[in-house]
Amino acid sequence: MYSFQYHAPTSLAEANTLFAQADDPIYIAGGMTLIPSMKQRLAQPSDVIDLAAVDELRGVTVNPDSVVVGALTTHNQVAEHQALGSVLPVLAKVAAGIGDNQVRNRGTLGGSLANSDPAADYPAAVVALGATFVTNQRRIHADEFFVDLFETALSPNEIILRVEFPVPQRAAYAKFANQASGYAVVGVLVADFGDSIRVGVTGAGPCAFRACGMEQLLQADFSAGALANSDVPNAGFNSDLHASADYRAHLVRVMGQRAVQKLLEVTL
Ligand SMILES: Cc1cc2nc3c(=O)[nH]c(=O)nc-3n(C[C@H](O)[C@H](O)[C@H](O)COP(=O)(O)OP(=O)(O)OC[C@H]3O[C@@H](n4cnc5c(N)ncnc54)[C@H](O)[C@@H]3O)c2cc1C
Repeated sequence: MYSFQYHAPTSLAEANTLFAQADDPIYIAGGMTLIPSMKQRLAQPSDVIDLAAVDELRGVTVNPDSVVVGALTTHNQVAEHQALGSVLPVLAKVAAGIGDNQVRNRGTLGGSLANSDPAADYPAAVVALGATFVTNQRRIHADEFFVDLFETALSPNEIILRVEFPVPQRAAYAKFANQASGYAVVGVLVADFGDSIRVGVTGAGPCAFRACGMEQLLQADFSAGALANSDVPNAGFNSDLHASADYRAHLVRVMGQRAVQKLLEVTL
């Protein structure tokens, strides 16, 4: 690992100032992605600014029609939060299925989303649930947040403070997991808001996206069968040692069907 300066600000203002004064700074939250990247010399920041003591990024608020989750909330805290689990169970389930217990104990919602790993689970959830990011500069709807592989709409000094999730009538997530890491080879989250259906996909392309074709099919016929022959173009899909683009397109269809099936079972 290269040498770097470590800072532990206790306020958002202090974090902003430290960032502005450094040569090539980076924020750190749980460190589950950043530390391995630095160890492998894929990242070489001059200054690491730890967000852990910044209170503005903490807290979970649960209302009947919305759930607001602070960026520093760890995956285990999301998975185990009782009020969150009763109002938005799909988010708790997504969190519980991330990596292993060590990763869930350190990794944070904000860190995972800011990283925009193509195989991360939360991106499918924020896209399908139509969440809104609240940063230290503005509000960003999930539809505009993910830009490309490891690239988001965030500017370099922008900090996610919290994410606001609307509560759907019902929702379910199905993922075909990499057995070694737990990351999604493909994950599909289907959310039914009554007057609209939203489908979020992760793992298939460079970043999470909405499957609008599937949404239309489900709008007309909310059944797993409706997706059986859905057209999933694989143009631009990831193709690597885990799965070809063709296979990922197949998985989008199958995971979409499984998510709908789960959702219908829960509400029977
Ligand atoms: C072995 C292993 C298995 C994993 N399996 C899975 C899995 O199955 N599914 C899954 O989804 N993920 C998985 N992960 C990733 C994990 O979820 C990490 O928590 C996540 O990638 C990063 O979160 P973090 O809090 O550790 O972020 P960090 O590593 O601290 O930061 C990551 C990036 O986000 C930026 N950042 C952090 N917080 C903020 C913020 N509030 N605002 C703006 N930028 C911010 C940092 O500057 C950095 O660029 C796995 C990781 C490991 C090591």
